[in-house]
Amino acid sequence: MANYLVVGAGLFGAVFAREAAKRGHKVTVIEKRDHIAGNIYTKEIDGIQVHQYGAHIFHTSNKEVWNYVQQFAEFNRYTNSPVANYKGKMYNLPFNMNTFNEMWGVRTPQEAMDKINEQRAEMAGKTPQNLEEQAISLIGRDIYEKLIKGYTEKQWGRKATELPAFIIKRLPVRLIYDNNYFNDDYQGIPKGGYTKLVENLLKDDKITVKLNTDFFDKKDEYLQEFDKVVYTGPIDQFFDYRLGELEYRSLRFETEEKNVGNYQGNAVINYTDAETPYTRVIEHKHFEFGKGDPDKTIVTREYPADWHQGDEPYYPVNNERNNSLYAQYKDLADKEDAKVIFGGRLGQYKYYNMDQVIAAALEAVEKEF
Ligand code: FAD
Repeated sequence: MANYLVVGAGLFGAVFAREAAKRGHKVTVIEKRDHIAGNIYTKEIDGIQVHQYGAHIFHTSNKEVWNYVQQFAEFNRYTNSPVANYKGKMYNLPFNMNTFNEMWGVRTPQEAMDKINEQRAEMAGKTPQNLEEQAISLIGRDIYEKLIKGYTEKQWGRKATELPAFIIKRLPVRLIYDNNYFNDDYQGIPKGGYTKLVENLLKDDKITVKLNTDFFDKKDEYLQEFDKVVYTGPIDQFFDYRLGELEYRSLRFETEEKNVGNYQGNAVINYTDAETPYTRVIEHKHFEFGKGDPDKTIVTREYPADWHQGDEPYYPVNNERNNSLYAQYKDLADKEDAKVIFGGRLGQYKYYNMDQVIAAALEAVEKEF
């Protein structure tokens, strides 16, 4: 039986640890933060599960993954139906018959399609040169200007005319009155929060978890001491940034307790104008249908931010430069470190949804054992 070190108690690390322990191996999980669960960490405040690193909704069409997580948590039937606030007027998302009715007063799918085509005609025969033109060619100017432009510019910190067209490949247009954001077969939020789910994953006699422990404080010793290392931190940091630094977009969260039972009437409201500095306001109790203190609520404003080393890296910026740099680090990883497995969103420099990160961890398990 081998002795494993897992660096990072996020979803990838926890699934790998669980599966290694199940197969009889001894696993030590080290985590530099003071809590487990990585970015899906939820903390209970006023009886409300507060998503500390941004709103997380579990959704998947991968039945194997869905069955897998059921072992560690019971899921509620939460359905993501965000609402957009554009200068005080509310629109349903994703773009569907409700949105088109609110935007233009149209009532039937044919009326909606006619209106969209009339708006798209502005770009007829032209090849979109940037994100703005791409969006208009797909959905027309009204929806672009009210629901896409400001939000996207805040997210990327750049004008839509300076962003490449490929960022928006397609914009699903749904010609039914259905505000369910995802098309997946399964969707929900773990009852009692995501932290409990990860706690259950890590609950095994063969797993030891050490918080407030940074791999880089004793990197060489760890590599000596353990038979195998599963590393879920940033891949460039593992190699001491020797080829250069991978870039990210970051986020800043402002969380506030309010003395009202229901502040905005929905879990997620997007602010799609350019003037409001934040992109979203999350009211956490609505993920659990109002559970918690009936007279209090917790809201979080989400501000997109540039990323500098030391900030929390949230979104990889998968442009040509970064993808090619990552490929070089991956080469180094493949050549130099047979005893280290790189995994998760930071180890693989990839935006993973939760179901995808679980699938990736199960795949790594399959390969390893
Ligand atoms: P992480 O959760 O980041 O775990 C890595 C862990 O490693 C961290 O805890 C970190 O502290 C630790 N670590 C790093 N370096 C070291 C070190 N040197 N020593 C010790 N520990 C270290 N997915 C969905 O499916 N639905 C959603 O609605 C959704 N919403 C999201 C919203 C936001 C704002 C973001 C950014 C992501 C969202 N995701 C969502 C994606 C989801 O967060 C990820 O799939 C998941 O967190 C990835 O898990 P991970 O284990 O790869 O990484």
